[in-house]
Amino acid sequence: MKQIALVTGSSRGIGKEIARELVQSGFQVVLHASKASKDLESTEFEFKKLDHRTSSIVFDVSDGAAVERACKDIFKSIGRVDVLINNAGIARDKTLVNMSDDDWDSVMKVNLYGPFFITKNVLPAMIENNYGRIINISSIAAERGAYGKTNYAAAKSGLIGFTKSLALETGRYNVTANVICPGLIDTEMSRAIPEKYVQKAIEQISLRRVGRTEEIASLVSFLASEKSSYITGAVLDVNGGWL
Ligand code: NDP
Repeated sequence: MKQIALVTGSSRGIGKEIARELVQSGFQVVLHASKASKDLESTEFEFKKLDHRTSSIVFDVSDGAAVERACKDIFKSIGRVDVLINNAGIARDKTLVNMSDDDWDSVMKVNLYGPFFITKNVLPAMIENNYGRIINISSIAAERGAYGKTNYAAAKSGLIGFTKSLALETGRYNVTANVICPGLIDTEMSRAIPEKYVQKAIEQISLRRVGRTEEIASLVSFLASEKSSYITGAVLDVNGGWL
């Protein structure tokens, strides 16, 4: 029986590549984004060619009621979720003195409440099945801080604490929870960073380059598999040696 994976924020960027890797590894994947878009449509079209069971769903991860409705729909139509990848995220970069309440709230809502809402809805069925893999996408910003990212770093640090605590609660049910901290990865989100900051970052990265989405997806694929059975509560860096 195919395992079912829900990858949030998989219309483009890191999430899309994670979804591709999982489809290619034999998972039935549910794609997701906040809204219907050309990106989501073309991703679904592309991956349906690899596995006709690939489907997609749209909901705003920061809306608790919408998340609950969507998860019920997934259970009704697909039956279960074995692997949850909390990948959807946003950045609203500003120095703290210039940061509005809305900049703060929106980043918290999407990057931290989002994983909370979804995990809360998906976890009971994983516990019942005595199997599950939860993989959260945090950031290097959570570990070292990042200029103009107090909101983002706070939310992503929260996600690390969330994951470690969750792992303590779920281990006895054979549900693992791990968190990945990517460094600078080439996506639409990172392309919004001014080039001079990217160049400055590259000088500090041991491998002297930004990362590729596949370099996150390959680790996710391993963590999503049964081969990672004794790894839980782990924080895994994929940052090219940005120490
Ligand atoms: P992108 O901006 O390329 O893609 C973000 C995805 O998340 C899209 O599919 C988007 O869909 C979805 N999304 C955004 N907001 C919401 C929402 N409210 N509800 C549902 N879905 C939403 O981002 P990346 O691929 O670069 O980033 C993916 C993850 O990796 C994020 O959590 C990010 O913080 C993290 N990360 C990225 C790094 C990088 O350098 N790129 C570095 C470290 C961490 P839609 O367009 O429909 O809203």
